[in-house]
Amino acid sequence: MRIGGEAVKSSQPQDVHLPFDGTTVGTIYQAESAQVEAAIAAAKAAARLMREMTLDERSTILRKSYQLLMDRQEAFAIAISSESGKPIKEARIEVERAALTLLFSAEEAHRLHGEVIPMDASPSGKGHMAMTVREPLGVIAAITPFNFPLNLSVHKIGPALAGGNAVVHKPASTTPISAVMLAELFLECGLPKGALNVITGPGGSIGEQLVFHKDVAMITFTGSPEVGLRLRNLAGMKRVTLELGNNSAVIIEPDADLAEAAGRCVAGSFAHSGQVCISVQRIFVAEQVRGEFIDRVIEGTRKLKLGHPHDGATDISSLITEREAARVESWIQEAVGRGARLLTGGRRNRSTVEPTVLADVPAGAQIACKEAFGPVVGINSYESLDDAIAMVNASDYGLQAGIYTRDIQRAFRAARQVHVGGFMINQIPQYRVDQMPYGGVKMSGTGREGPKYAIEEMTEPKLICWKL
Ligand code: NAP
Repeated sequence: MRIGGEAVKSSQPQDVHLPFDGTTVGTIYQAESAQVEAAIAAAKAAARLMREMTLDERSTILRKSYQLLMDRQEAFAIAISSESGKPIKEARIEVERAALTLLFSAEEAHRLHGEVIPMDASPSGKGHMAMTVREPLGVIAAITPFNFPLNLSVHKIGPALAGGNAVVHKPASTTPISAVMLAELFLECGLPKGALNVITGPGGSIGEQLVFHKDVAMITFTGSPEVGLRLRNLAGMKRVTLELGNNSAVIIEPDADLAEAAGRCVAGSFAHSGQVCISVQRIFVAEQVRGEFIDRVIEGTRKLKLGHPHDGATDISSLITEREAARVESWIQEAVGRGARLLTGGRRNRSTVEPTVLADVPAGAQIACKEAFGPVVGINSYESLDDAIAMVNASDYGLQAGIYTRDIQRAFRAARQVHVGGFMINQIPQYRVDQMPYGGVKMSGTGREGPKYAIEEMTEPKLICWKL
């Protein structure tokens, strides 16, 4: 762990395993309650320093972290691939994206500003001027999931530091290695000791200690809806942002470029074995083009290469645990039992599940209404665009969705009527670049990430008013 800038162990070591075959790839330590307390105290002390730093000083540290992360791209990619089982080519992209997220955070630090308030728009404001300045919150607890262990952590840490806060980071128990490496990297960039602390161990105890602590001002959480909801209910007056799950849907209209749409849907359904919060899970294709579209999806899916995550040719590797793989397999079987047609895939070998395409998935099947978080996609057809929009909206989630069409009227009709945080036209809902506002509605969460938007959530506008 990293507490107050120092490398720290506890009496409880815990091995980290490569999910693909169970090989031990590292050892971390489960934080004791006193260590959680120490991490918060270190952050509280460092928050005073961060607050006093100029915007340029914060930006400079973040810019250095961008550069150093790019210099160490391969080491971080191997760490991510080893702890999460992510194919190495995707892990390399994650490091590049994380570096860019840091760069965007550095740029936003330079732009952090309040506004001048037109006080004399009210009769009693005559003779007054006022402005807002954006002030840091203090100590921010960042709790992150396993699937993008670096970039999703950086989406919290970058904006928090840019805004002048200090952070206590609790990474997922399965993927703590890149988080500890990142804290070491930041120290080399000149970040004050204690401004970024990493504590490892079970979320149930450590996470909740963070949520209840009086010196933690904000919880920024990415993970499952169940845990997110629990944290929100426990957090009281603390600020909370939640980036939760989804069962992303895309509509394929009759005039769509089917080759492009099918190719992108295959990529978006199976990247990191579907363990992406915006993984394409539900495809609604117009009845007229159903046959051709399905053939193209099957053909693309069968080309994917299963294998060891460190092999540069691997497209699909394991899920995070064998238990998760067994759950996904059982959901596939449940859908088939309810009448869905298995078009390709469906088998499991230990923690690896074949990329699986289902058709005619009944509305009540788990694959249709919950978040699969595995390499499985269901294709259903529709007759009218209104029906397709209704099916997309028939979900507890609302992170991102999309449509493929050449008809701008129909594209915007869908964009306005689908209830989500982000809507993609001629792009899959799995699309994300790191500076865009990103977040969901309904059970997909509250708040937006992307450095510009996260800084807003991680700072407070303070009004300063004076009578002339
Ligand atoms: P998870 O089980 O909810 O865990 C996320 C984090 O919360 C982990 O660090 C976990 O620690 C911690 N945690 C667990 N129980 C806790 C508690 N009671 N109090 C405080 N912290 C607790 O999620 P996951 O399985 O790692 O990730 C998959 C989920 O994340 C999916 O639902 C996915 O959609 C979502 N996700 C959303 C986004 C987004 O941006 N919207 C991005 C990626 C993933 P332990 O590991 O120690 O349990």
